[in-house]
Amino acid sequence: MATLGIPQNTIAVLQKYGFQFQKKYGQNFLIDPRVLEKIIGAAGITKEDYVLEIGPGIGTMTQYLCEHARQVTAVEIDPNLIPILQDTLGEYGNVEILHGDILKVDIPALAQEKNGGRPIKVVANLPYYITTPIIMGLFESHVPLDSITVMVQKEVADRMQVGPGTKDYGALSLAVQYYAKPEIVANVPPNCFMPRPKVGSAVIRLTRHEQPPVSVEDEELMFALIRASFNQRRKTLANGLSNSPKLSLDKEQIREAIGQLGLRESIRGEALTLEQFARLADIIGKMRRIGSGV
Ligand code: SAM
Repeated sequence: MATLGIPQNTIAVLQKYGFQFQKKYGQNFLIDPRVLEKIIGAAGITKEDYVLEIGPGIGTMTQYLCEHARQVTAVEIDPNLIPILQDTLGEYGNVEILHGDILKVDIPALAQEKNGGRPIKVVANLPYYITTPIIMGLFESHVPLDSITVMVQKEVADRMQVGPGTKDYGALSLAVQYYAKPEIVANVPPNCFMPRPKVGSAVIRLTRHEQPPVSVEDEELMFALIRASFNQRRKTLANGLSNSPKLSLDKEQIREAIGQLGLRESIRGEALTLEQFARLADIIGKMRRIGSGV
């Protein structure tokens, strides 16, 4: 039975093993059964599902996942947690604990081996110091994904959801919205964790699009343009792009491309929609092809 969501049970396990929290691993364990149930509900886990959990901690959410899913793989970096997980998850026959760094795990190979290449669900109370690389890694590695339901810092959840013209809008908003539909499903205060984090948290569900909402000829070029525009947020789009060594575009080409989009030269990158970045990438891609005679 899933029992670790109750604070006294978590404390008993921590004491039994003399566990010391490691700040460097972003360890804030969930101690609120309502939040755990909310996450499982939002992820829509069924007995058909294969679930990848990132950072199981002492196995609190893993217990819930084992009870709802067909099969679970939980990847944990802290070696001190492995014997604890073997203990707290001992009664479940449908979980595999992997000791390692999630950023180094070959997740497409795991999805192939465990789920025959069918879309997997990712569920986690993420370590906040690597939220962005984990999420971008999942999308960019083209893992077959159904959805990612994760606890993140509230501010990061907001950034994933917003559109142009707001202070939180940036490269992460555009990347997430290109790959998935984001939806904040709960705001979670610090007292739901042990130890309490200094920031507010939120559960966000990212449902993978079957087709991206915009079409673009060169995805990589579009993301290079997006990154260059937001690297220098206070600059105009034209300056941001022409200052980027990676893009090596001359000012005249950039002005011409922005003009073709029907935008004024003084526009900032933060005012552009995903659709406009896609069109800009197509225009610049075409200019480059003509320039190189391809
Ligand atoms: N899932 C547990 C819970 O909700 O109580 C723990 C969540 S805690 C916020 C994040 C967990 O991720 C910790 O157990 C931490 O050791 C683990 N972790 C941190 N960096 C990791 C990495 N690179 N790869 C795998 N696990 C990691």
